[in-house]
Amino acid sequence: MQPWSPERRIRVSLLGATGLVGQEIARKLENHPWFELGALAASPGSVGLRYGDAARGGAAGIPPALAGRRLVGCDPQQAVAPIVFSALDAATAREVEPEFARAGALVVSNASAHRMESDVPLLVPEVNPEALSLLVTQRAQRGWSGGIVCNPNCVVAIVGLALAALHQRRRLRAASVTTLQSISGAGYPGVSALDLVGNVIPYIEGEEEKIAAELTKLLKLPEETPIGAQVHRVPVPSGHLASVTAAFEEEIRPDDAEEWMRSWTGAPEAQGLPTLPVRPILVTPGVDRPQPRLDLWAGDGMAVTVGRVRRDPVLGLRFVVLGHNLVRGAAGAAVANAELVVRDQGSEIRGQGSEVSDEALSLTPDP
Ligand code: NAP
Repeated sequence: MQPWSPERRIRVSLLGATGLVGQEIARKLENHPWFELGALAASPGSVGLRYGDAARGGAAGIPPALAGRRLVGCDPQQAVAPIVFSALDAATAREVEPEFARAGALVVSNASAHRMESDVPLLVPEVNPEALSLLVTQRAQRGWSGGIVCNPNCVVAIVGLALAALHQRRRLRAASVTTLQSISGAGYPGVSALDLVGNVIPYIEGEEEKIAAELTKLLKLPEETPIGAQVHRVPVPSGHLASVTAAFEEEIRPDDAEEWMRSWTGAPEAQGLPTLPVRPILVTPGVDRPQPRLDLWAGDGMAVTVGRVRRDPVLGLRFVVLGHNLVRGAAGAAVANAELVVRDQGSEIRGQGSEVSDEALSLTPDP
């Protein structure tokens, strides 16, 4: 029997609802077939405010039906639910997410705080659904009835898809990633306009280290695999573009690389999840594509677009990949992870957690 049914949805709450990623999650959950959005939580300064008044950048980014909801605090007393989406900054997430996991919630996190912990799944449904099994160890080691599942950093979520499609055919031996990352990747208010308009900043704190470490964990590469990264912040509102060169155990011809990426559907466990496109990688024939302005919303923001696939004289293969940092790189990644968890262990999510109130665990009938 499926762990959900069309007429009953699972209650979820949202931590960091007012931020850019939180707003995008709220949009992804509007009319979601499996999830019903309950508590909206933010920082102490926002508690009690209407969501429409506190949403960073204004109410235009949130579903109008939620604008009048009052924000609550990020503590389990006010916001626990069977599934809790976290779009908190890393420092807050480090403290808050374990409190929810301890209270019985499955925390689906965008933050970097717990991504590299050995018992925390760093999950992309098409790439490594088997990582979910780490939840068993996590619960046993930490004594939690809930747990924490993370999606990768926005660059890794995008580049990782393209590399995974190739790595499954010929093992990846080395990669060098040069990024052009949009302003919204820095959250709101992010980088000052005076610093960025007409400019490029060749540094994002901690980003290059995250790209190397998280790609290694996601693709289960040997620790010594050389992964280089050079990041740049560019004056583009949304959409991260990455130029990738890579070496594989055996050189891949550009035509084969295109075909393998275009036809890749990812792990069977991911197929049919409501938020995922059937084909997560589009390969564009355009000589000057992908471009953020033209390709950002491929697959409703959940597909990445690859172009300029060609031979590289240094490492063997070169291509450019673009994805929506707030959607495939963050909000949509988290919602897809929650869908995978529900498909994998929905009955446990409903049944667990003596510390979670019956009310919070109860499924809400569709209106
Ligand atoms: P953001 O716009 O800066 O939003 C931060 C959110 O955290 C706001 O809702 C804020 O609430 C809340 N918050 C801050 N301090 C808090 C506290 N002490 N207690 C409770 N809540 C607090 O950031 P974002 O871009 O949405 O990113 C959210 C997370 O996703 C970060 O960890 C980020 O690294 C990660 N991420 C972002 C992207 C991206 O493209 N932006 C991609 C992947 C992952 P108030 O509004 O009330 O202050």
